[in-house]
Amino acid sequence: MLADNLKLVQRNIDSACEQYQRHQKDVLLLAVSKRKSSALIRTAYSLGQHDFGENYLQEAIDKQCDLNDLSITWHYIGQIQSNKTRQITEHFQWVHSVDRLKVAQRLSSQRPSHLDTLNICLQVNIDAEISKAGLKLEEVCETAIAVSELPNLRLRGLMALPKANDTLREQRASFAKLRDCLATCNAQLNTPMDTLSMGMSGDLEAAIAEGATIVRIGTAIFGARD
Ligand SMILES: *Cc1c(COP(=O)(O)O)cnc(C)c1O
Repeated sequence: MLADNLKLVQRNIDSACEQYQRHQKDVLLLAVSKRKSSALIRTAYSLGQHDFGENYLQEAIDKQCDLNDLSITWHYIGQIQSNKTRQITEHFQWVHSVDRLKVAQRLSSQRPSHLDTLNICLQVNIDAEISKAGLKLEEVCETAIAVSELPNLRLRGLMALPKANDTLREQRASFAKLRDCLATCNAQLNTPMDTLSMGMSGDLEAAIAEGATIVRIGTAIFGARD
């Protein structure tokens, strides 16, 4: 079941890459394992999946403890409360959901000195939805410049959760905004960003068409969550 799902998702990524002339090696599959057990993650790992995304801090730390014999790259993709930044920066290699400078400053100053730099994506509220976290499009470049100057962090790119779109064309229009925003900011940064974290189970193809370098897939790999 899990093996079949993983294979199917990988095949969908590969065929989107082919269709939109992207290199497969430029699109990382991030398996979103929130609300799924350590045992399932272990199985996915044994099938070759090494990057996992988690949304809930305590749940993630418990699983990391269960799985500390594996070389997993852990990505934090959930909402961030300021008082949780210390644990986040202690336990993850990537954070995709940085939505304000203050959070980045704390992740930087609290990063343990024995760890490598923490990879950061800024979360952007691309469709300006009231219900969603993320920087406004017009705030992104200014924030990116400030984050890029912090020690212990490496600003990698931008992440978004677009509004629910029905058609491929609408999905692509949302993702194109993130792609354009990355290009605009890169023209102002000393070190360009290289990551577009966009695309989930329902809109992976559109995301790859618009340049996604990390797709975050939960349901299509692990099945529906309770
Ligand atoms: C849950 C989640 C995903 C995965 O969504 P699916 O639709 O299950 O693939 C991706 N990104 C974020 C930020 C999430 O919270």
